[in-house]
Amino acid sequence: MNVNSFLALSRAFPRGKYTHAWHQGKQVLRAQQRRTFRTHSRSLAYAKDLFLGQINKAEVFPYPEIGKEELEEIQQFVAPVEKFFSEEVDSAKIDKEATIPAETLNGLKELGLFGIMIPEEYGGLGLSHTMYARLNEIIALDGSIAVTLAAHQAIGLKGILIAGNEAQKKKYLPKLASGEHIAAFCLTEPGSGSDAASIQTRATLSEDGKHYLISGSKIWISNGGFADIMTVFARTELEVDGAKKDKITAFIVEKAFGGISSGKPEDKLGIRGSYTCEVSFDNVPVPVENVIGEVGGGFKVNSALFSGQLFFVFVQL
Ligand SMILES: Cc1cc2nc3c(=O)[nH]c(=O)nc-3n(C[C@H](O)[C@H](O)[C@H](O)COP(=O)(O)OP(=O)(O)OC[C@H]3O[C@@H](n4cnc5c(N)ncnc54)[C@H](O)[C@@H]3O)c2cc1C
Repeated sequence: MNVNSFLALSRAFPRGKYTHAWHQGKQVLRAQQRRTFRTHSRSLAYAKDLFLGQINKAEVFPYPEIGKEELEEIQQFVAPVEKFFSEEVDSAKIDKEATIPAETLNGLKELGLFGIMIPEEYGGLGLSHTMYARLNEIIALDGSIAVTLAAHQAIGLKGILIAGNEAQKKKYLPKLASGEHIAAFCLTEPGSGSDAASIQTRATLSEDGKHYLISGSKIWISNGGFADIMTVFARTELEVDGAKKDKITAFIVEKAFGGISSGKPEDKLGIRGSYTCEVSFDNVPVPVENVIGEVGGGFKVNSALFSGQLFFVFVQL
């Protein structure tokens, strides 16, 4: 299936057209992912050339280059997303009413935009970083949608994607990719913002060793009012060289575990349609198998996540 057929098909269905575009888009992307980006080889003589009055432009812009054919494909792939944002997203209404309508969210789900970088084997679009960035140029037309999608996939589910085990990926990613489940990222606390190491939320191992009981409060959580799955960071007590020490651990927490309550949405100056609120955890029982990475390894997860993904939060803004 080439891109033109994909576009023709996506236009042919007045309703459910986005679902169709999603499936056809996946086939286009499979072909796209097989191609590699061309890069220029580096030359160590760039400075010398300057003294000789020559500017090697390829060295000034040493970024991967997208081939013409691929560029055309990318531009055509984004067409259904552009169409949706220009025809069906009412940003003034979203901002005024401080909420994203259910039908708009459903449209985003049908386009596959809740699983942009989730691999196809888990039900996502499996796009490259380049494609994600390109799609975000359109998504960012509405700040509230951009924040909602970024909180979901650039940080909310990203811990599972980069540090989760196979069982966790199989269990959680498909529903997150389709948007049936929404994710949130829970790190910030009333006394802990930039200094993430000072969080006070605590996870205590249950007597039978099967669960961690999480208690604490997080603030400024995007998607916090309706998220089904949350990546939650909490202190855990560990024995290091015979001494007890607190270390941060990352957990996958389902709203369905119980003991989770959300505050009312913050009435923000901008991005008013994104749902930012306080989320409290009261002895939430989280199975030990829901630890992301290793116990005490939460900081590694956080650093890995932010080193690559914060870029996408900003791209979307
Ligand atoms: C709209 C919105 C959505 C958000 N969504 C989420 C979310 O989904 N999940 C989540 O966990 N959090 C979220 N946050 C919280 C956000 O991550 C924090 O606001 C951020 O970490 C900064 O923390 P803070 O606000 O406590 O500022 P502070 O840490 O108090 O920092 C205030 C200022 O002091 C500066 N500063 C701090 N420490 C130092 C230092 N040592 N030296 C010099 N300068 C310093 C900072 O750069 C900043 O300018 C959200 C925030 C907003 C506004």
